[in-house]
Amino acid sequence: MPADLQSYDAVILGAGAAGLMCAAIAGQRGKRVLLLDHAPEVGRKIVISGGGRCNFTNLHTAPDRYLSENPHFARSALSRYTAQDFLALVERHGIAWHEKTLGQLFCDGSAKQIVAMLLDECARGSVTVMCDSAISQVDHADGLYRVTHGGGLAQAPALVIATGGPSIPKMGATGFAYDLARQFGLKVVQPRPALVPLKLPAEEALFRELSGVSAGVVATSGKAAFREAALFTHRGLSGPAILQVSSYWRHGEAIAIDFVPDCADGWLREAKRERPRASLRRVLEDALPARLAEALSQRIGVAGELGGHSDKALSAAEAKLSRWPFVPDGSEGYAKAEVTAGGIDTRGLSSKTMAATKVPGLYAIGEAVDVTGWLGGYNFQWAWASGVAAAQAL
Ligand SMILES: Cc1cc2nc3c(=O)[nH]c(=O)nc-3n(C[C@H](O)[C@H](O)[C@H](O)COP(=O)(O)OP(=O)(O)OC[C@H]3O[C@@H](n4cnc5c(N)ncnc54)[C@H](O)[C@@H]3O)c2cc1C
Repeated sequence: MPADLQSYDAVILGAGAAGLMCAAIAGQRGKRVLLLDHAPEVGRKIVISGGGRCNFTNLHTAPDRYLSENPHFARSALSRYTAQDFLALVERHGIAWHEKTLGQLFCDGSAKQIVAMLLDECARGSVTVMCDSAISQVDHADGLYRVTHGGGLAQAPALVIATGGPSIPKMGATGFAYDLARQFGLKVVQPRPALVPLKLPAEEALFRELSGVSAGVVATSGKAAFREAALFTHRGLSGPAILQVSSYWRHGEAIAIDFVPDCADGWLREAKRERPRASLRRVLEDALPARLAEALSQRIGVAGELGGHSDKALSAAEAKLSRWPFVPDGSEGYAKAEVTAGGIDTRGLSSKTMAATKVPGLYAIGEAVDVTGWLGGYNFQWAWASGVAAAQAL
């Protein structure tokens, strides 16, 4: 046995949200745990999350708010470690929090409090945490995983993959989880950037001139529809409504935007009767920012007074305004994606324990696996829940 070989009950790769939670609970259950990360400090995405306040969970967490090729997979872990469970932990640590909107819970102070809380929980479990420790090799023989890393060589009968997905590479994010999964014969569902701004092609330049304008809309991609704000950017579209639909959107498809979600059927014909001398732009300004109202009315081709247009033409304008199609020519990619959709195929994992069904002692948790939440605290809740599920099985 090499002199520098350290033995543990479990080695957890990746000290992000899922890895920290898993390490803390496993340590507190009496397991000897090594938590390894190549970044200089733990939980970097937690620190930048939620604009520095960490949207750490969502009160409306439910399996249907997650995307996966195996849609029922997340159910078990989410039901056994709930948003209320995480909130109880936050409260035990005296961290002040508030609900912002739509069940989204944030720290009143700083996201750093969540990292400090998780590190404190790790310390209670006597977890060995090693940062700045690049992982150069992982082998499996005689029932033991051997991990060669910057700080030496570690072995354990259990290995947890918690290195997340490749979104925001400048924060140290990598596709390492997928390489490791493939090394052990697990399949990977094609990863793709999600919760990401979408780009519009050159012919939509008129909309790009609206950079900075936002409006409350309903954005739709396929069957998924989200009522939130959309923001025009110099590259295309962003804002919560767009980030949400981006996770469902596939190249070549259109998304649709309802710019007038509060207007009942026939509202424009009604406006014609009530204000026949008003222009479409003027009427739209009641519901939308002036620059957007102008751009939309220019494009829709209803010029002059409403009274000069037939009901049929106004019905067509209404239909367009409530289902305006955009065909993005791409997304802003991993550099701007809040998460990665796809990942380690959950059909090779136990939904109860996160263990690989055919590789003894191998686990995968958090964003590394093919479970992706909506915007709004759902992704952290998955990280906590999957981390706890694995920890209880280690
Ligand atoms: C800007 C931004 C804001 C976000 N805000 C929110 C929010 O408010 N609410 C929410 O629910 N979600 C939010 N998310 C998503 C959330 O951060 C992730 O879903 C969550 O961090 C995933 O946890 P994880 O532990 O699986 O992965 P991560 O937290 O990404 O952790 C993975 C860890 O593995 C390490 N690692 C990677 N590759 C290697 C390697 N080769 N060797 C060793 N270590 C490695 C990384 O350094 C990292 O520490 C946000 C994401 C971003 C980018």
